[in-house]
Parts: sequence; structure tokens; C-alpha cells
Amino acid sequence: MPEGHTVHRLARDHTKAFAGQKLIVDSPQGRFADEASLLTGRKMTNVLAHGKHLFYEWSPGRGARAGANLVHVHLGLYGKFRLHKNPAPEPRGAVRVRMIGTEKTFDLNGPTRCEILSKADYQKLLDRLGQDPLKQDADPEVVWNRISKSRAAIGTLLLNQSVIAGLGNIYRAEILFLLGIHPEQPGASLSREQFDQLWQLSVDLLAIGVRYNRIITVDLSQAGKPASRLKRDERLLVYKKTRCTECNAKIRKWELGARTMYACEKCQK
Ligand SMILES: [Zn+2]
Repeated sequence: MPEGHTVHRLARDHTKAFAGQKLIVDSPQGRFADEASLLTGRKMTNVLAHGKHLFYEWSPGRGARAGANLVHVHLGLYGKFRLHKNPAPEPRGAVRVRMIGTEKTFDLNGPTRCEILSKADYQKLLDRLGQDPLKQDADPEVVWNRISKSRAAIGTLLLNQSVIAGLGNIYRAEILFLLGIHPEQPGASLSREQFDQLWQLSVDLLAIGVRYNRIITVDLSQAGKPASRLKRDERLLVYKKTRCTECNAKIRKWELGARTMYACEKCQK
């Protein structure tokens, strides 16, 4: 599943390619046809991201279109965007929505969610999402309040989108490894200092992720080659590794929070 950096990068790229334009909106597959008819021909003004959620904002519509000013997309496990130069090729597979701008077109296949949200439902959704480290106005105190009062494992809490929005399975493993924290340590047992480091690392690593459009947790000054040339195996420290990159101990792999966790139990006490 894409983590927050991918979603923020999409918001940035789609804003650049489509915002301010009157778009042709279509649903080749048909499942978004009614919604598309409310949006087509109107101006899309902005694309926002929060955690793993994307929001496409439209200029206010009139009449039947008055309530249709926001499209919510969650990619889930199978959702995928394809960006084309115009004229776009024939839709490939089940394209839920196609948006055609002046120079570019995007197709969206297989999202978990693709829906028009009312203002109230948008607010409800934001209210149940945790703070997003990639947002300027994110408040780490809110996150600390949740984590410091929870007996749940920190490895589980980091996947909980109502605690921190945007971290996924790769970032949680890498962040806990970098901090030397055991994933099964209860949230409440973290010191304030550990939490502050965890938050700052989330901010920094996600920002690197947006910049390079991939997760990189190795020290780029030590990597020996440009970030764009690093292979997957060279970009990460613990995720899907068999041996620890620090101490060469065997990496433990197990289910935690319904996803596979990777940790070095020698380095992460
Ligand atoms: Zn180790």
C-alpha cells in the first residue's frame, strides 16, 4: 500500500498538472459515471493530501452540482494512477475515473475509495485521522497524548492512521530500527525524548520520500551514490532484510498489527 510520501507526491504532481483547469471527467468503467457527470467541465482548483488520503477540490458548482465540490480518493492495496500526455491512450483495465486536462490526463484504477464527499463528511474523515507529519500545521502533542497513554505496541500504533496519518509498514520498521526501539514496546513506555525523536524522524524521512518519490532511510551522505540510483535493497535498513545492517544478527520477522514486522532484537531492545 502506498505510504504518505507517495500520496503527498501525487497531490503535488496532480496540482501542478491539473489545478486551475476545467477538466473533462469520465468513468470508462462506469462505477463513477454519475459523479463524473457532476464534475465534468468544471474547474479543479487544488489537490490536498492527508496521510494516505487524497482530496480533489473543485470550484463551487451550481444547481444539482452544488454539493459536489470534493472528490476523496484512497488507493488502498490495489489503487493505481497512470499519468498520460494528451491525447491519452485507450483506457487500460477497469478505469474508475479519467480526468483530462489541457496537456495531461490521469487514469485511476482499483481505488478502495473514490467518492464525492460533502463538507460535513470531509470534516468527519479529517477528525478521525491522526496528525500527518508532512503537514506544516501538524501538532505532535496530539500524537504524544495518544501514544503516551496507550498500552498497545508502538509497532502497532505507528500503523494506526488515527494516531499518525501516513506511516505504513515500511516506515514503521525503518523508524523503530533507527531509534533502537523494540516494536513490541508499549506506547506508554516511550520516554518523551524517544517520542520527540520518533516524530522528527517521521517528518524528515517522509519529506525525503516525497522529494525522491521513494522511501530512503539510509544516510544519503554515506550511500556512496546519488539517491536516484539506489536500488530498493540499498535504500532501506531493516525492511525485508535477513541480516542486520548494523550488527549482522538475524532479522526477526513476525506479524504485528496484521502486517509483517522486521526488527533486529539485538539493536532494538
Ligand atoms: Zn542489529
